[in-house]
Amino acid sequence: MIPIEEAEKILDKITYRPGTEEVSLMDSLGRVLGRDIVSKISMPPFDKSAMDGYAVIAGDDSERFEVVEIIAAGDVPKKTIGKGQCAKIMTGAMLPPGADWVFKVEITEEKDGVMVLTGEDDNVNICRLGEDVKPGDVVLNAGHLVRPPEVGIIASMGFDTVTVYKKPEVGVVTTGSEIVPPGKPLRKGQIYNSNAYSISAQVLRTGAGVTLAGIVDDDKESIKEKISNLLETCHMVLISGGVSMGDYDFVPGILKDLGVRLYFDKVAVQPGKPTVFGTRGETPVFGLPGNPVSTFTIFEVFVRKVLYRMMGHEYTPLLLKGVMKTDFRRKRIERTAYVPVKYCNDGTVEPLEYHGSAHLDALSSANALLKVPAGVNDVLEGSVVHVRQI
Ligand code: AMP
Ligand code: MG
Repeated sequence: MIPIEEAEKILDKITYRPGTEEVSLMDSLGRVLGRDIVSKISMPPFDKSAMDGYAVIAGDDSERFEVVEIIAAGDVPKKTIGKGQCAKIMTGAMLPPGADWVFKVEITEEKDGVMVLTGEDDNVNICRLGEDVKPGDVVLNAGHLVRPPEVGIIASMGFDTVTVYKKPEVGVVTTGSEIVPPGKPLRKGQIYNSNAYSISAQVLRTGAGVTLAGIVDDDKESIKEKISNLLETCHMVLISGGVSMGDYDFVPGILKDLGVRLYFDKVAVQPGKPTVFGTRGETPVFGLPGNPVSTFTIFEVFVRKVLYRMMGHEYTPLLLKGVMKTDFRRKRIERTAYVPVKYCNDGTVEPLEYHGSAHLDALSSANALLKVPAGVNDVLEGSVVHVRQI
């Protein structure tokens, strides 16, 4: 058994060079940029009014301003503004020559083609040419994850296609003679396959593709054949179950037979101690313990980071700072524990009742995991903690 930090170090060394492809702007959502986004234009592309109002010469202390033009967004102004003159201007419209100040409409009154001021405003109300972005600026770096704001940013630069890293394909195989797919009747001694679905959902949420290889009985040859096929066709292989100490837990031996180099087969983490990890060539392979909470947790704390790296993105989980609402206590301290918790909006952290790693239901009200390092017994009410969002 290795400490969790050692497992993390091993996983951090896994490298993978994904290829790139060109996708349409909308298909870039959830993908990782495969190339820097370099602007070809200035943003804003011209001096523009930030308000509906009147464009004037800054410091013009005239009492009355003759309105020489009305400038709508999209118009090109025709008149040059002189002293005692103004142009009525809309938000987003181009500033007329001569003008370098905009009075917002709220502090003005207009009658018979003449504007007078009725109030004061210190703001210039102009967005300057190129104040946000200049041509040649790197607006987004390769490796950046595309979220809705990035889709907007890329669109604002005028690009309708995006170079992204290719999605890795993750093969998922479920082992266990007792496992049946949802939708089928459940006979004595059987349980439904939840792992294949929760794992696939986690993979899809990360943004990679999934190949579901189905359920395979605890039979050496059948498991070997399935894993062997996935190793040929997928960029990462995830195996559910068959990794612990039981008579039918064949996965580590099979991986060795298939030429997978194993780095660890037990980690001091709870849940998820029998987690297996190895590589064949560039293909990472994880054997995830079958208990559903273990499977879910190990994906979050180990697999997600490796998968993101294969997508070209360096992932750091978002940690939320909170205060324990009640005590968390434990007796055994050899392993680092990940405890499902509810992070509340008032900044408190509530450890959830949890009957062990088979208790998948406990995760329904959890929105974060509390890390309790090896060697630590209790995390008491009132103590400050950082929890990982799930
Ligand atoms: P294993 O890791 O194969 O020893 O399985 C540990 C526990 O997890 C057993 O109680 C299994 O029945 C359960 N389990 C294994 N695979 C799955 C699965 N795909 N879905 C739900 N539970 C599972
Ligand atoms: Mg099993």
